Amino acid sequence: MQRSIAYRTALAWVATFFLGGCATVATNTSHTFDTVVVDAGHGGKDSGAYRRNAPPEKMVALDVALRVDRKLRESHLKTVLTRSNDTFIPLDSRVALGNAEQNSIFVSIHFNDSRRRGVEGFETYYHSPYAYDLAAAIERTLSTLPGTVNRGVHTARFRVLRNAHYPSVLVECGYLSNRSEARDAADADYREMLADRIAEAIVDYRYGNGTYHRPAAVVTRAGGAASSLPSFR
Ligand SMILES: [Zn+2]
Repeated sequence: MQRSIAYRTALAWVATFFLGGCATVATNTSHTFDTVVVDAGHGGKDSGAYRRNAPPEKMVALDVALRVDRKLRESHLKTVLTRSNDTFIPLDSRVALGNAEQNSIFVSIHFNDSRRRGVEGFETYYHSPYAYDLAAAIERTLSTLPGTVNRGVHTARFRVLRNAHYPSVLVECGYLSNRSEARDAADADYREMLADRIAEAIVDYRYGNGTYHRPAAVVTRAGGAASSLPSFR
């Protein structure tokens, strides 16, 4: 059985190589991973979404990513950050960092933008079918936040998904173009809750429902932990 899986995986690699296809055949580490590569979208010269009344996407994505990173480490998973400060990292370098981590998954954190200010909600993206369940789990836990809109799980050919060797998901944590979600994104307590739900999805997905230990301070919004990390208003 093991041998036949290995054989089929090898065949798939050979096919990909000779056909010259750009899609990578992901290795299914979704139930074995011990490392999470946490990718804060954008950075440095690349601000990502940038609206007048909202913090730049690169800042809030980094802040949520750092919080997710801390929570995962507290849950005894190994983590690797693609960036831990305001630096520009090319997409291919992010993918390479992830692919260098054996037995890992890749989680990219972003915020969204739309010309239509009324558009709101969370979206989670994946490319490899091996990443679907994790994407769905993240979407589901984010939807437990009060007053949120679930825009669903979608496939996408983003480079950090398409070229990943391991299951890779991209989370859009709300629209900075939407007044209410921009206000939420600017609030450190809210970002703490976003990170908490993302970490919960990852930990419970890996080790089983109910494994994640939520710090008491994150349970309600009003009771959110005071944070030493920057607040953007
Ligand atoms: Zn983005």
